[in-house]
Amino acid sequence: MKFYKQFSYLGLLIVSVFLWQCSLTKTASNNATDGNSYYSVNDFKTILKYDTHVHLNVYDTTFIHQARADNFRLLAVNVNPAYYPPIEEQRSIAMRLLQVYPDRLAYATTFSLENWDSDDWQQKQLAYLKESFDKGAIAVKVWKNVGMELKDKNGKFVMIDNPKLDPIFDYLAKQHIPLIGHLGEPQNAWLPLEKMTIKGNQSYFSKHPEYHMYLHPEYPSYDAQIQARDNILAKHPGLQFIGAHLGSLEWSTDELAKRLDKFPNMAIDMAARISHLQLQAVTDYEKVRNFFIKYQDRIIYATDLEAGGTINAPELEKRIHDSWLRDWNFLVGDAMLQSTNFEGAFKGLKLPRAVVDKIYRTNAEKWFPGINKNK
Ligand SMILES: [Zn+2]
Repeated sequence: MKFYKQFSYLGLLIVSVFLWQCSLTKTASNNATDGNSYYSVNDFKTILKYDTHVHLNVYDTTFIHQARADNFRLLAVNVNPAYYPPIEEQRSIAMRLLQVYPDRLAYATTFSLENWDSDDWQQKQLAYLKESFDKGAIAVKVWKNVGMELKDKNGKFVMIDNPKLDPIFDYLAKQHIPLIGHLGEPQNAWLPLEKMTIKGNQSYFSKHPEYHMYLHPEYPSYDAQIQARDNILAKHPGLQFIGAHLGSLEWSTDELAKRLDKFPNMAIDMAARISHLQLQAVTDYEKVRNFFIKYQDRIIYATDLEAGGTINAPELEKRIHDSWLRDWNFLVGDAMLQSTNFEGAFKGLKLPRAVVDKIYRTNAEKWFPGINKNK
């Protein structure tokens, strides 16, 4: 009898422990899916993340080693400013890096605007793009020199909705290859330096007066740039388009929301414009946070960080790591933060875990379907 009683106590204990364990598992899985589960800032290195807008203009592995240390995969973007190496050279750097680090890297190609007026421009550039896709490129970048630099033989600015670009966009849409568009500039570019809202913009435009549109009133206006971009999205609804730098609508989540509502095949990367969202969070924290939550399927984490120039390896590692960590603290944490770009404090958005996963990982995989194809 005594033995039987002991046995049943033991049985009861085992059953209770089992039930308690079950309830723990259940709570954990509920939390992972109910939108009220959060990462801590210390989880930074534990989850795989993507930075879909970086420039690797030299064959240097520092950037990729830092990506590995911080658990990032990279999309290296070829682009053709006059002060970058030629696009063919950027492509061969990307290809060499891709061979060594297929698990950390993908790259986006671009096309040249040279000989724009010649009859075989389209044919030549389409051939270059196709060759790039054969060499592993998974997306195409178009830059602000369309709209701000390139003029046709009549001296007229060529805008992004120029019909000569249609065959390229049609081809990309048909092949499901995404187009990354850096078109126009932040609205600050149309203001005098002292009126710009972000110190980083003041510093960039004081070094690049050629893009400081306030100094060039004869150039197309800010609205004309945005309109031309909207025109191609309306004309090519099948084109998967990623508006780089918050689609040059960095100053207003309302304006961004309008485009995202109107163009379902448009997403945005936040490269080099996160401080504009932080500035809006100073005065309207809830609005910025709700924007991220409402458009959680359309926002992709990216920085515009760059390898190249004269910076040494330890400095570059620090610059990259610090930038990534600062952004993570803003998106994931809830501490009061400050930016070197403006006066005033703002609170970390503490986005739900499911939103963080999309912004840092699954949106990159969805909007750049080939991003892991060379892995
Ligand atoms: Zn860039």
